[in-house]
Amino acid sequence: MTTITIKLVQGDITDQSVDAIVNAANSSLLGGGGVDGAIHRRGGPAILDDCRRLRASHYGKGLPTGRAVATTAGALDAHWVIHTVGPVYSPTEDRSALLASCYRESLRVADELGARTIAFPAVSAGIYGWPVADAARIALHTVRTTPTNVEEARFVLFDQHTYDTFETQLR
Ligand code: ADP
Repeated sequence: MTTITIKLVQGDITDQSVDAIVNAANSSLLGGGGVDGAIHRRGGPAILDDCRRLRASHYGKGLPTGRAVATTAGALDAHWVIHTVGPVYSPTEDRSALLASCYRESLRVADELGARTIAFPAVSAGIYGWPVADAARIALHTVRTTPTNVEEARFVLFDQHTYDTFETQLR
């Protein structure tokens, strides 16, 4: 176990060169908007083919919220895409354990694969409506405190506000 280095980058996660790129997927694994759409567009059909195989084998009902599973990264500059399903934000129910689980499970899958570098988006902080500061706090705390052989976790934040919020939470 080494100490994980956390880096923040503003940009597009599909531009990253890392061992594993994490996708904020939905439970169908069959594609969606936001970062999911970008990953499938840029990575090409091989990712969707793997996702379909996973649906036909292990995840007939879809990937449960808080879990993670790997596929090829297709044409992306990475070995794997790790798909995780974030919780939809609820103002009345505390779902933060599920959001933390997305990061923990992604790191567990990365360890199984032997990945040393990983790029995360801000899971649940887009279409799923999570307040960015809270999503950033949970993301950073979980990645910092999860035992892993991953050496570098890069948070790739798409817009300035999300980047600034992660930077504030990191300090
Ligand atoms: P969710 O449904 O989990 O909220 P989204 O994809 O809607 O997932 O949003 C998660 C975060 O990813 C948001 O901060 C969004 O701005 C960001 N995002 C969208 N496209 C990209 C991309 N190409 N690279 C990195 N982050 C992205």
